[in-house]
Parts: sequence; structure tokens; C-alpha cells
Amino acid sequence: MKKILFITGTRADYSKIKSLMHRVQNSSEFELYIFATGMHLSKNFGYTVKELYKNGFKNIYEFINYDKYYQTNKALATTIDGFSRYVNELKPDLIVVHGDRIEPLAAAIVGALNNILVAHIEGGEISGTIDDSLRHAISKLAHIHLVNDEFAKRRLMQLGEDEKSIFIIGSPDLELLNDNKISLSEAKKYYDINYENYALLMFHPVTTEITSIKNQADNLVKALIQSNKNYIVIYPNNDLGFELILQSYEELKNNPRFKLFPSLRFEYFITLLKNADFIIGNSSCILKEALYLKTAGILVGSRQNGRLGNENTLKVNANSDEILKAINTIHKKQDLFSAKLEILDSSKLFFEYLQSGEFFKLSTQKVFKDIK
Ligand code: UDP
Repeated sequence: MKKILFITGTRADYSKIKSLMHRVQNSSEFELYIFATGMHLSKNFGYTVKELYKNGFKNIYEFINYDKYYQTNKALATTIDGFSRYVNELKPDLIVVHGDRIEPLAAAIVGALNNILVAHIEGGEISGTIDDSLRHAISKLAHIHLVNDEFAKRRLMQLGEDEKSIFIIGSPDLELLNDNKISLSEAKKYYDINYENYALLMFHPVTTEITSIKNQADNLVKALIQSNKNYIVIYPNNDLGFELILQSYEELKNNPRFKLFPSLRFEYFITLLKNADFIIGNSSCILKEALYLKTAGILVGSRQNGRLGNENTLKVNANSDEILKAINTIHKKQDLFSAKLEILDSSKLFFEYLQSGEFFKLSTQKVFKDIK
């Protein structure tokens, strides 16, 4: 039986791979293995590995890749080391990685150097930060590309990737939106939220803007307090500068208008997002899930500058006056984006390619393809 190994380092990649992992786990032809690491193992970030168990996954190998300083480059080296030891034991037939963080980069390096096929999900995207460099580097190491759309496919070809190795499967988290069964009252009860109306805040550090992050977060906090609305605040990811944002959030902790959480369970998060007045911050979900659910979004700062759809979304600098003005003008269920977000049966497509043997025909020896 072929062994398929997924790596997951955060709630963000987990929501994109879980439907694919379920297909593999439920099949009789493949064995699923999961290498769980990164933020999943950190109590400070919600210890989200518990979600994997709650969702019924087995064969989970837990690996702590950071120390208390959360240094990204050190965590990269540690993950390469830990993942390569695991892979040497397991000998998987395929490694599946998602996105643009150091964990998938580490796994792609290990796969490429050990002649193990690597499939990369959501390559060819552009966000406009250091994430782009990581994502493109992962794509250059991966042998198989599972992308969102034609735009992403074209960008990968521009990077010299072979068209035959690129498969459009759509964004796997979007297909989960329609299946979500958690009601608003359930979600509110689970997280003890008593607000009638509320907005969501998700703000991550832009690592190249480290010198101004504290100021950006302070401005954001000031505007949100002045807005007099209720907020569900979700902690940032562990990128360089996250402590500065958490320091600013200290001011929100005893304010009854703010409820802070390290992370919410995906299905509950989606329900709360769907029913929110708006979402503010710089999370990718402002341009994905929120758009699809028609929840209005306010993008703060530069983190999503290159992403599709950002030009049609309300965008402000991290300046408290601008933020406050945006909050006071945004309307619930605003139709902000005219382009249609197409939802594909991502996990089905992925599994069909896996089953047909299509992926395994590809070679670990890559050939750079010049653009014609
Ligand atoms: N997410 C979740 N629970 C949360 C926050 C986020 O399940 O409390 C999921 C959701 O699918 C979202 C994704 O994680 O789209 C990415 O969110 P995040 O802002 O953490 O990361 P980004 O993609 O902006 O790096």
C-alpha cells in the first residue's frame, strides 16, 4: 500500500489539507501519515494538534520544531532534521505540503534531496510578502503542483515548471464551506460569546516591516476601541514580530467588548465569520472564505497586497483614523468583489489523480521549461 505523508504546521494549512487527508485515510489503497509540527504543538497558539485527533485522524507524529524564542530560521533547520529522520524510517511514496511556511519548505527540501515525490498545494499564488519567496522556493523543490486556478498555473510555468506537473484542483478549504453544520448558537455557546453583533479581527505581522509592527498594532487597537463595536480577536501566527502584536492586545484583555482566542476550531470559525458584521486585519481569509461567505472585509496594511481580489476590497493603512473611518463606513454583506469565486471538488480531484497513478508517473528529476 502506498504511504502518503502530509505535513501540517498551522491551523492555516490544516484547513486546506484536511479534506484531502480524509480521502486518503478513508481509502483502502493508501495509508495516511501526518507529521504535525509548528504552531500545532504550542499551548500559546491554541495547541491545535488536538483538532487533528478530534477530526478522527490517526498515524499522527508530533514534532516540536521551535524553542521558546520562536526563531523562524532555527525552526526551519530543526524541522529539516526531524522530518528527514521521520521520512528515513517511514519511507513514504509521496509527501504532500501546503502553502508558504517554513514547515512545508523543510519537507520539500527533504523530499527533493531524498528522491521522494513532493506535491505542493496552492503554489503559484502571490500575496506580496516574504511568504511569496518561501512559496515559490517550495514550488521549485516540489515535483507535483496542485493549484487554485489558471493564474497560479501560469505563474508556475513562468518559474520554469512543467505544465504536465500542474493540476488545477481549486482551494480545498472552500469546498468545506458548504458542508459546515455548526450553527451560530452552537458556535457562540462553545466559545461563550454573548454579543448580538460582532466583528472579527485577525492581524499577522509582516516580517519585513518589523520596525513598525508595534505601531501598526497600537493604531489598530486604538481604532477598534474607539469604534465601540464588539470584536472576536484571533491571535496572530508565530511569524517574526507576533509578540509585538500580542503586547498591543494586552490593552483589550479586560475590555468586555473584546474576546481573545489563540485559535478557533475551523467549522466554528467559519460560522462566526459568516455571521460577523465584518472582518478586519490582514488574514488571507478576508480574500477567500470571507469573500465567498459575503462577509465584508477591511484589509489593514500591506500583507495581502499582491493577492487576487485585494484591489476590490476596502483597504487602509495601519493608521487609526483611516481604520476607524473604514469601520464606520463598512456595510454588512457588502458585495465587494464582482469576480466569481469558483469552488471545485478539490479533495475529489486530488484523490482521482492520486488513484489514477498520475502523480507517480512524474519524475523526481525536474527539467526547467523555458517559456515559449
Ligand atoms: N482558521 C481557523 N481558525 C481560526 C483562524 C483561522 O480555522 O481561528 C483557518 C481559516 O481557514 C483561515 C486560515 O486558518 O482561512 C488562515 O488563517 P490565518 O489568518 O491564520 O493565516 P493566513 O492564511 O492569513 O496566513
